[in-house]
Amino acid sequence: MTIFTRERGKLDAVAKGVRRMRSHLAGRLELANECAFLMHRGRTLDVIVSAETLSAPWPTLVEPDRYAVVSLMAETIDAFCEPELALPEVYDLLARAIGSIAACADPRSLLPRFSLRLLDMLGLAPPLDCCVHCGCALPGSAWLDAEAGGFTDGVCRERWRDLSELTAEDLVNLRALAVPKGSGPAAALHATPAAAHAIAELVAHHLGRRPKAVAYLGGLGA
Ligand SMILES: [Zn+2]
Repeated sequence: MTIFTRERGKLDAVAKGVRRMRSHLAGRLELANECAFLMHRGRTLDVIVSAETLSAPWPTLVEPDRYAVVSLMAETIDAFCEPELALPEVYDLLARAIGSIAACADPRSLLPRFSLRLLDMLGLAPPLDCCVHCGCALPGSAWLDAEAGGFTDGVCRERWRDLSELTAEDLVNLRALAVPKGSGPAAALHATPAAAHAIAELVAHHLGRRPKAVAYLGGLGA
């Protein structure tokens, strides 16, 4: 299985006998559960010797919307992160997000801020104050140019067609969504529809594809 650790980042590890009913690992190694592992370094893959459950949100995630959102977060981190590269900030972001999903009536509303914070931690956040093409300060409104990894002003926008527009309110919302936790200014927790769309497009641009779990979310409607 693939596990995401604070100390070593993403790891593939073998969990022998986990599907057997009487395995001491059964029921612990579920999606989004947090465990303290004792591991044995194998020749190619590490082997999980034992797992002590630290938090087990899994039973609260067995609900279509929550499951889809946590799957999308896990898939996005899996796709962005290299094996054996510690990213403790991303680990904490994911742990907090899983706790929020388990307690949230509208879990998909958590996705935009999670995704924007993740892009920021990976050094991929879009500049939110200046045009991605000319570097001039963005006026009141802007247009999303996901292929360029950011937003463009009205002058540069003339060179591209079919860019979606963001209002001044959307830009203010994006800047507030990007605020790191505990950094002073109040962060926004909920995105406007245009801001949510822009963030999803930027994630897809940097990944080079749309995460598979997006289709699953779409299949749930709304
Ligand atoms: Zn420009």
